[in-house]
Amino acid sequence: MAKATKFIFVTGGVLSSLGKGLASAAIGALLESRGLSVTIQKLDPYINVDPGTMNPFQHGEVFVTDDGAESDLDLGHYERFTHAVIGKNNNFTTGKIYYSVITKERQGDYLGGTVQVIPHITDEIKNSIKLVADGVDVVIVEIGGTIGDIESLPFLEAIRQFRTDVGKENVLYIHLTLVPYIGTAGELKTKPTQHSVKELRGIGIQPDILLCRTDRYLSDDIKRKIALFCNVSKDAVITAKDVDCIYEVPLVFHREGLDAKIVELLNIWTREPRLEAWENFVKKYSSPQNEVSIAIVGKYVDLTESYKSLNEALYHGGIANDCRVNLIFVDSEQVEDGTCSQHLNRAEGILVPGGFGTRGIEGKICAANYARVNRIPYFGICLGMQIAVIEFARNVAGLAAANSSEFDENTPYPVIYLMTEWLDEKTGTIQKRDVNSAKGATMRLGAYPCRLESDTLAHDAYRRENISERHRHRYEFNNAFKEKLMENGMVFSGMSPSGDLVEIIEIKNHPWFLGCQFHPEFKSRPMNAHPLFRTFIRAALENKRSRE
Ligand code: GLN
Repeated sequence: MAKATKFIFVTGGVLSSLGKGLASAAIGALLESRGLSVTIQKLDPYINVDPGTMNPFQHGEVFVTDDGAESDLDLGHYERFTHAVIGKNNNFTTGKIYYSVITKERQGDYLGGTVQVIPHITDEIKNSIKLVADGVDVVIVEIGGTIGDIESLPFLEAIRQFRTDVGKENVLYIHLTLVPYIGTAGELKTKPTQHSVKELRGIGIQPDILLCRTDRYLSDDIKRKIALFCNVSKDAVITAKDVDCIYEVPLVFHREGLDAKIVELLNIWTREPRLEAWENFVKKYSSPQNEVSIAIVGKYVDLTESYKSLNEALYHGGIANDCRVNLIFVDSEQVEDGTCSQHLNRAEGILVPGGFGTRGIEGKICAANYARVNRIPYFGICLGMQIAVIEFARNVAGLAAANSSEFDENTPYPVIYLMTEWLDEKTGTIQKRDVNSAKGATMRLGAYPCRLESDTLAHDAYRRENISERHRHRYEFNNAFKEKLMENGMVFSGMSPSGDLVEIIEIKNHPWFLGCQFHPEFKSRPMNAHPLFRTFIRAALENKRSRE
């Protein structure tokens, strides 16, 4: 008989932002380190069908998968911590579940029966969980929201039923709570945890393991108390202590015996975990030989969650160069009035990230200009590439009013525009669109192939000819201007295999100036930094040394 897939459900109590996503990812990393194959799924209680159209101010970054899903940023953690192949089926929202049930109802699939939360919605949720279970040893399912929320009830009911459906020995419930230290009393308080577990038990779920988020290790006495009140064994009370570096979380959990407890409770036999790579990474992270400062010139500077993958990719690039990366977030609107040098002179590298809308565009163009003229390493990602092209067209190629038609529909030189027809290499079909096309359907999303030119910065970084990177944008480089820009020293180092779409640009006679139409940050890993981030940080470091 085939080995049964095991399921771990991770819920959160007391308050949000305790790090459920990271905890789920770290559990995945630990199980992988024991030789098991895992996948991680997130069930989100909100009603949006996907997070693609949600405001990054409210929701943080939109993470893009190879298969083009616009998903929750926690999926980024899952990919950075494990080797799981994450795609559309790894993120379901209430909206997506209801959408599917309502579509079926409209098609008459329920044969006129009354469609209800139980069993129709809960069945749909359970089927969604099973969609990712094929071929893996363990499925980790993170339930968004906090116990006590009205929205998450159908998900909790579904996972409660799940244990009965697939067998007690195949399901584990892990609950993440807060154990705060109250300074005036001089002690750690367990009451919020007790209440949260009580609430969970009221729904019919008895947690098997408690992850207690705290700023200090829980004593044996505290663990015993929590165990008694929450009806778990003492060794199932795990200290989830705050850490300086998120990649330390698997190590902290391991020292607390979490992975050993999980495999014991799920009755899985595995080898001892191999965590050397994680240990080495954390060591390097905490005592690097070098340091650089990178300015990120963007829109969401107050909310760094909006650039989650970007920040992580920069740190990974740092580690690959034995280097700490200090991030300086610069609001692009502040540099619009020619104050670039004042805001950017502390930076050894300048990065303009992806973005939408006209706000702060001229400031970003100033930043690209400052980097080009002062020979500071420049990395433009998606919008950041488009900005670099506009700056170059205006100030080097003499096309003074050049712009993207996203920002100026009437520009005489639309160097970036909505391409009306191109070959989609993913589907092999000719794609067409015009200004009237619906917004939602016109994004180039997910993985697309790209071919690199030799003797370029891009080729030097990847050391390969063919690459694949993830996209999320609507506008493209306008090939009508290619020759003109090339004559002036722009290098088109990455193109779609058909040659239709510009994927990477560089400029000659600059230490490191590169823009890419895709989002490389989504594919960077702690132990395997993305080539472009590795070489960008290397260039920033060289820039720093040359200044000293
Ligand atoms: N707004 C630009 C476009 O749609 C860039 C998008 C992005 O940076 N992700 O093409």
